[in-house]
Amino acid sequence: MAPRQDDAIGRTFGKIGPRLLVRGGFLAYFIFISIRLLQFRAWALGTGDFVPRPEAVAGLLPIGSYMSFFLWLKTGFFDPVLPAGIVIIIGALVTSLLFKRGFCGWICPVGTVWEGAAWLGRKVLGRDNFRFPRWFDLALRALRYALAAALMVWLAKVSVAEAMSFQQTPYYATVDAKMLLLFAAPVYLAVIALAFVSMMLLGNVWCRYLCPLGGLYGACGVASACTVVRDAEKCIDCGKCAKACHAAVPVDTLKSVRAPECDGCQDCVRACPAEGALTSRVFGRFTFPWWVWPLAVVAVWLLVYGIAVGTGHWHSQLPIEVFGQFMRIPGL
Ligand code: SF4
Ligand code: SF4
Repeated sequence: MAPRQDDAIGRTFGKIGPRLLVRGGFLAYFIFISIRLLQFRAWALGTGDFVPRPEAVAGLLPIGSYMSFFLWLKTGFFDPVLPAGIVIIIGALVTSLLFKRGFCGWICPVGTVWEGAAWLGRKVLGRDNFRFPRWFDLALRALRYALAAALMVWLAKVSVAEAMSFQQTPYYATVDAKMLLLFAAPVYLAVIALAFVSMMLLGNVWCRYLCPLGGLYGACGVASACTVVRDAEKCIDCGKCAKACHAAVPVDTLKSVRAPECDGCQDCVRACPAEGALTSRVFGRFTFPWWVWPLAVVAVWLLVYGIAVGTGHWHSQLPIEVFGQFMRIPGL
């Protein structure tokens, strides 16, 4: 897909592949911190050299982190054990509110793997991913939003006492490493491989129908100030934007993309051959080049991270030796 804008940044960025560069970068970082966590665990168990525990692995525990997030909203108490989990949630909500599921489209490593599977499927099979009939697609999407709402209500209703006592358990502090090891077990690897092949055939059904957090971020994205806008007078009705959209948004029939499925990937804007027909805008008025979108997502993400570090809300207050002691508890 060739970039339409004739500016140097857009050309260079487009040539390398913005999704590969940004999403690939976050995925590589996720793999790196996962390896570091396992190395830290090896140190704790006395089988390896010391490696600092990476705070960002708190992102592996979205359910526990959302529980801590709601506890913080209710009481102002900021989880001292895995504070990075709350920061990652804030970052995901802010990027989604500003840039239409910007977290899903540009950051989430899980979504990157499944999106990669869908892309590989298109390349290998030489055709678009399978699309469900509209009624079935709508029913599945509605179910996803219902599940997302039910999960959030359930987590928000966890009592202050329960949430605080859960945060103090050794299980809470060490379950991230446990989960990583679990996913490396043959049975889970087989499930992951099966899911990968399924998504090569069916497209990214995880992000579209199953991920409850994606449902939440999609709902936030509906209120986003940044959207893709179509100028019907300049549009030549070629349909290339809709064809390029991995989220199956009928861009070629819309005035502006409000769909919660849109993750701001910018593929439609880049695919459009008619100058000015499809643009990224703030508040529907102020146009900006497509490449500003991913750079802004990354900038806001780094800003949230920087504020958290600068204000002492990123690093755990639990001493590293205590994490080590917890990891040595038999059965944990
Ligand atoms: S192609 Fe356009 S409408 Fe589709 S997800 Fe990407 S930005 Fe949104
Ligand atoms: S790609 Fe551009 S010109 Fe073609 S239908 Fe979409 S908005 Fe219109």
